[in-house]
Order: sequence, then C-alpha cells, then structure tokens
Amino acid sequence: MTNDLLTISSWRQEVRFGKPGYPRASFLIVYVAMEELLEKALELGASDPRLIPVEMIQVDDDIVELCLPPQCDGYDMCANCPPHVMSPAEFRKVLEGYESALVFKIEAPMELLLSDERDHVGRLIQETAARLERFAIEAGFVSSRALAGACCKRLFCGAYERCNVLSGGGECRNPDKARTSMSGLGVNFNRLNRDLGWQMSDAREAGGEALGWMAGMVLIG
Ligand code: SF4
Repeated sequence: MTNDLLTISSWRQEVRFGKPGYPRASFLIVYVAMEELLEKALELGASDPRLIPVEMIQVDDDIVELCLPPQCDGYDMCANCPPHVMSPAEFRKVLEGYESALVFKIEAPMELLLSDERDHVGRLIQETAARLERFAIEAGFVSSRALAGACCKRLFCGAYERCNVLSGGGECRNPDKARTSMSGLGVNFNRLNRDLGWQMSDAREAGGEALGWMAGMVLIG
C-alpha cells in the first residue's frame, strides 16, 4: 500500500476493479461502511475527516518527552497518559495489526485554543473520537480504537483528586468519553499534519477570526 490518502475516489476505483484478497461483494460492504464513517464524522462536527493508511502514522520515541513536566500537567495523572500507557515501540507493534485509520480535526478560534476555554474543544475531540470508535465497532470493525489529543484527567475528572483507574485499580469514570493521548503513544502529529496539509500556517481567516484546531483518530480494524 502506498502512502497516498485513501480518498473516496480511490475506494470507488478499487470497488470497481476489485482488490486482491477481497471478494468484490465484501469489499463493497467495507467501502459503504467507510463512507458512512466519514459521513458520521462530519455529522459530529469534525472538519476534513480522512481515511489514511496506517503507514502514514509515524511514531517517534521522543514525542513522548512532550508529555513530561513542565510541558504537560497530565503526566502521571491518568490511565490514558504516560507513564501508564504503552511505549512507542509497543504502539508501533500494535499499528502493524491495522491497515487504515480515520483522522479528523475540530476547528475553533485560535484565541479560544490559547485560553483555558480550550478544554471545551479537548472534551469535544475526545468525545467525538470515542463516538466514532463506537460507530466503527457497530459497523463491524470490532477492533477499532480511538485516540485523541489532551489529557482526560484535566478534561473529565478535574473535580476529583485522583484518576479512578490509578487510585487502586477502579473503573474509568468516563469509559464512553475518555481516550488515550496520541502524543502519549508517540504519534508524530506534526509530521501527519504536514502530510495532510493541516499545518497551523494554513489556519484560515473567517470573518477576521484566525482558526486553529485539535485532532483525533480512530484505528479501523
Ligand atoms: S477515571 Fe478519569 S482520569 Fe482516569 S482514565 Fe477515566 S477519565 Fe481519565
């Protein structure tokens, strides 16, 4: 598989001409499910959702250093952030079990993203990733797994002193919302942003207001 984006037109072409290893009818079912997943992402407010081959997801050991204090106050605070998640090496191994991923972003005014109000967008990106994961699972991709930016302790459990999973092995208080941090696994999102053409320098001016965004992804499997 090349590093080209899996655009809808490329899916259509593969459906029309068939794809080695897939009976045509099965591939049509996969194609329809993928189109529905993209439509669901748009319906939930995501911007520019894309299906990409997992080879586009570069995982670097040093990205996890961004999670260390003082850069991030989420380190060691929840079960979804380092040092309580798998290492980049382990995640690279996990990725070998997947072929494609849905990546998406949610846009917001830069002014908001640079303020404490960014947590509102952080919650939205985590919840959207979790909902798309559920949608993919219900569509038959039962090993789908969502990842999202930001730390769930700050976003969902700020009123509690400790993460319920870390403090004695309890259940997550927000299993339908909280998902693992992408940078905590070593995902090089700057690289992916560049490959997707999503650089911050592309932030649009809308009515005089600069827009930025936060991102999430669902591994489809
Ligand atoms: S209990 Fe709260 S802090 Fe812990 S993983 Fe769940 S959402 Fe995150």
